[in-house]
Amino acid sequence: MKKLILSAAFALLLSGAAFAADTAADKPAGISFSQLLAQLKGEIPRPPSAGDPVSVLVAEDLKGDSRYWVTVAADNKHARTALLEAGLDIVEVADKSVSGFITAADLDKLPGSGFVVTSRQTIYEYAKKHLKDFPAADARYHNYTETTEVLRGLAAGNPELVSLFSIGKTTEGRDIWCLRLNPAEKGLTPSAKPGALYMGNHHAREHLSNEVALLYAVYLLEHKNDADIKKYLATLDIYIIPMVNPDGAEYDIKTGKYRWHRKNTRVNPDKSVGVDLNRNYDFLWCTQGASHSPGSDTYCGPSAFSEPETQAIKAFVPAHPNLKVVMSYHSYSSLILYPWAGKDAEVEEAKDRDVFVKLGAEMGKLTGYRPQRASDLYVATGETGDWLYSNYGIFGFTTELEGNSFYPGAELIDRAVAGNIRAAVYLLSVADDPYKVTR
Ligand SMILES: [Zn+2]
Repeated sequence: MKKLILSAAFALLLSGAAFAADTAADKPAGISFSQLLAQLKGEIPRPPSAGDPVSVLVAEDLKGDSRYWVTVAADNKHARTALLEAGLDIVEVADKSVSGFITAADLDKLPGSGFVVTSRQTIYEYAKKHLKDFPAADARYHNYTETTEVLRGLAAGNPELVSLFSIGKTTEGRDIWCLRLNPAEKGLTPSAKPGALYMGNHHAREHLSNEVALLYAVYLLEHKNDADIKKYLATLDIYIIPMVNPDGAEYDIKTGKYRWHRKNTRVNPDKSVGVDLNRNYDFLWCTQGASHSPGSDTYCGPSAFSEPETQAIKAFVPAHPNLKVVMSYHSYSSLILYPWAGKDAEVEEAKDRDVFVKLGAEMGKLTGYRPQRASDLYVATGETGDWLYSNYGIFGFTTELEGNSFYPGAELIDRAVAGNIRAAVYLLSVADDPYKVTR
């Protein structure tokens, strides 16, 4: 029931065809979309959870972190790809330069590789500056326990439609939860209906990517009696995995302080923490745009699919041969990306390429993001979408959500959620036959 705060701007954003008004009867028990959104925006508090303590933005923890925030001259994708391989975790791309995190050891080697570092600051200095922009406490985003509670609530409130199961355990033994929306087939029962999969939080600090996937699930259930959603729920097989990397997401906040952590939490032989899960898939693994150095934020791991989190996806996808479309949410750059990421080339098959371009363009319109071939930005191998498409012919997309930080605060939540739900619903509308958009 939309009795809670619903800003005029948000109401406007939701006024499109796919966003017909809901009714009180549609609301899943105990959880409403507008309530969750208002909690995220900080307009209303979230009830206390049995979960971990809330995160508080304090920079002190980063004093011992060896990483720097640097800006490096680079004006083309080849230079950007080489920087990824040198261990730079590219976060922002400008015309003539890129900015991101790099370890002190990797930074020392950059000039020797011919790169010009135009500015540098320790991650501690960087964090202190950035923290000014944000509230002192940020309990609004859902940590793992809270995410699990929301998913359980959705499953309990919609038993006729929803099943919740774990697709595997993480490095630290957490369950990777998958919410399935399908009235006929539950849990691991196979389905012949066309499938759509949405994933969030491959990268730990990209907390907004979990929220978008989670709110999308709530949205679908709240609108389950709308004509279009009702049709998709009856005719499709929909999966939502909001947190692929819950260990990393928890690690990022578990000291009560943000750490700008990107990877999972495997402890590497050199005692550094984590493998970049979005460089760990088996497509041209670690040949370009990734680092073999364990301490680097772009570390590809000791081998393809070395990590339990990517192994879980590796097992899940071929067990669901009905999957047609996949969206993996990341942040932040306001982009809709499609293959190839791992080679500097267009998808060779023209009919598939046309579908990627067309779907990317449509989702670009709905989100306001720029659609493009991923490797136009830089070449990065071992990435999710390439693996999905090359092995299974699945139209696998990556959305880089909007914002100017991994911890964007409340201002952009309305817009990011509304636009991305529209795009996600659009993806459902083509899941039965993605090729229809080019006919
Ligand atoms: Zn990411």
